[in-house]
Amino acid sequence: MGPLRRRVAAVTVLLFLAGSGAAQDAAAPPGERFDTVVIDAGHGGEDAGARGAAGMVEKELVLAVARDLAARLRATGLQVVLTRAADVFVPLEERTALANDSRGDLFLSIHANASSDHSVHGTETYFLALDASDASAALVASRENRAFGEAASGIAAIDDPFIALIGDLIATEHLQESNDLARLVQSELGATSLKSRGVKQGLFVVLTGVQMPAALVEIGFVTSAQDERSLSGAGRREVVSALERAVLAFGRRYDARRGAAPPASER
Ligand SMILES: [Zn+2]
Repeated sequence: MGPLRRRVAAVTVLLFLAGSGAAQDAAAPPGERFDTVVIDAGHGGEDAGARGAAGMVEKELVLAVARDLAARLRATGLQVVLTRAADVFVPLEERTALANDSRGDLFLSIHANASSDHSVHGTETYFLALDASDASAALVASRENRAFGEAASGIAAIDDPFIALIGDLIATEHLQESNDLARLVQSELGATSLKSRGVKQGLFVVLTGVQMPAALVEIGFVTSAQDERSLSGAGRREVVSALERAVLAFGRRYDARRGAAPPASER
């Protein structure tokens, strides 16, 4: 595909994703309780994601974290939808459809990071924006989008004014809640033994079509010997607990904002 055709394909995908979100009023009606969480384990199947020097594979790590997190959240009474529960590749549109059809109240995509600089380590959480917060955030988005094909990875070229024109079409309805979610997640991750690298913004295609507050978490760098060691043991359990606390805290805020009655146990 030539550069122009690739650009048009990228815009078509983004318009489709943004349009599917903007076409409906996705806000939960007042009084509706926080009860459904969508957990998206990145990659899978032929798409392994990042790899560490000691053999850690991103697709396996994030699936294990997603499954543990799902079990913990289900034990609290929440409905949990996993976009994948096994080592299979799930296309972008299927992940989006699974999330939206379940009428989730929150979407959390779980990934692990990679860098050519093996001294870089720590956790970071992203919410969707047309402009990446910095060059390294743009690189992360571009790497994570690559799995979804050429058109999706082309979206990362947002310095192109033609693509910037469609920025208004990105659903902004959940922007504030997505920002809140990312901050809660990163604040809880800051309590783990992994270094906190903060909240960032980027154009992650997996977040563009979901009609609910959404964030993408990078739970550490598999390319860092320190993070790889941590995430193969105690650090991984800390991450699961941190994500659980963040989801539950978000749920309490969500119910308070919508004026939902507290559960019987808290009345
Ligand atoms: Zn990833």
